[in-house]
Amino acid sequence: MANKNYKFWFCTGSQDLYGDECLAHVAEHSKKIVEYLNGTGKFDYEIVLKPTLINQATIRQTLNDANNDAECAGVITWMHTFSPAKMWILGLKEYKKPLCHLHTQFNEEIPYDSIDMDFMNENQSAHGDREYGHIVSRMGIERKIIVGHYMDEEVVDDLASWMTTAIGVVESSHIRVARVGDNMNNVAVTEGDKVEAQIKFGWEIDHFCVNDLVDYVDAVSQGDVDALVSEYYDKYDIILDGRDEAEFKQHVAVQAQQEIGIKKFLDENNYHAFVDHFGMLGGLKQLPGLAIQRLMEQGYGFGAEGDWKVAAMVRLMKIMTAGKKDAKGTSMMEDYTYNLVKGKEGILQAHMLEVCPSVADGKVAIRCCPLSMGNREDPARLIFTAKEGPGIACSLVDLGTRFRLIINAVDCKKVEKPMPELPVGTAFWTPQPNLKTGAEAWILAGGAHHTAFTYDLTVDQMVEWGAMMGIETVVIDNNTTIRDFKNELRWNSAAFVK
Ligand code: MN
Repeated sequence: MANKNYKFWFCTGSQDLYGDECLAHVAEHSKKIVEYLNGTGKFDYEIVLKPTLINQATIRQTLNDANNDAECAGVITWMHTFSPAKMWILGLKEYKKPLCHLHTQFNEEIPYDSIDMDFMNENQSAHGDREYGHIVSRMGIERKIIVGHYMDEEVVDDLASWMTTAIGVVESSHIRVARVGDNMNNVAVTEGDKVEAQIKFGWEIDHFCVNDLVDYVDAVSQGDVDALVSEYYDKYDIILDGRDEAEFKQHVAVQAQQEIGIKKFLDENNYHAFVDHFGMLGGLKQLPGLAIQRLMEQGYGFGAEGDWKVAAMVRLMKIMTAGKKDAKGTSMMEDYTYNLVKGKEGILQAHMLEVCPSVADGKVAIRCCPLSMGNREDPARLIFTAKEGPGIACSLVDLGTRFRLIINAVDCKKVEKPMPELPVGTAFWTPQPNLKTGAEAWILAGGAHHTAFTYDLTVDQMVEWGAMMGIETVVIDNNTTIRDFKNELRWNSAAFVK
């Protein structure tokens, strides 16, 4: 999971024109702002105050120090006074990490009775932040701009939200995906340019033979398997479906052995995400089901049928939401079946087996059922239904000349009735703005059937992540109309021409 020692640097810009007294005030105000922000308890990461930046040399040095500090996940900039922006060019040109422009002011209200020219010269971020913003825009640098008084709750929340995106940007370059088998033959949307993905996102995407994995699974000791099986039996309900109890347990044990073996394989080889393929199981006795569900819950990314883009996206979203208070879950999903009844429209989400139980609402149970695909033993899997509430479904597709990230805001609901014959974990959601427009827009954008889904990130956080990655990002939500969306796709194809 993400390194919780990440820090964000707070860099105040000024110049030496104002004299020492003014610069002392600038430093004091910045210190108070940083102390206030750290004291809010809203941030998972510490904000570290840096000395006021007043010339090109200190700006360049500080931004390069930020690049080189493994714990620094981004820089927050604020021009307390005027800071001539040509001084910032070299430093910004060399700076590589997430950038936030906190357009704030130390005083909330104009001090009507006492305001004089000295006060105005000292407190002129309305002025200085425009000069700074101009150069960042002219240089075409992606950054988050947050406007408002630093004590404003919305400002604090926006800053915390940006930090999550920044962690996603920084951590993206560490993601390593193990492809155990290739993409499913003839399937288009799960394919993609792995070299371009490494250039754009930093992802390392390697391949293995399934039997490399089998060696790890076979090496797991019986004692370890038995211990994990008894953990399962303590934790989950058992739904035998009339099967022999001992035979059922043996099937579950196969998944326990796979969970331990796959985890060891991933950890020893330093991978955080992986894919498999039901058509290439080699020496695996069952398609990994319960095993993968549990590994996803532990934070590993997963994509089925060789879908490495989904595996990496699930991993990314797991990192971005790691440690989030009251997190509701993140999983790979697949659009499976519609309910088209008027007023009750929605998409039933599931997969053959591999839905992460972090999204489960209430009890999780184990069942063992045949698979209609593949030629192995009936795999054990975790069964549940997902939580209600808003979430986002994300699909990263490769259009040949570029990546496009499609983000759909969705509303998760309960299905009207139980589905006792369906032996998989499921979610059910209505895409925003409604099924008719949401599905049309999704298909127009070329969105996949596999998605990376979470309750715990916002549309804006993923939009900003996409912007930082330099890729096309489109949103389908309550503001979407087909006419505008089609135009957006047209304009984007001009904007993202290489
Ligand atoms: Mn699939």
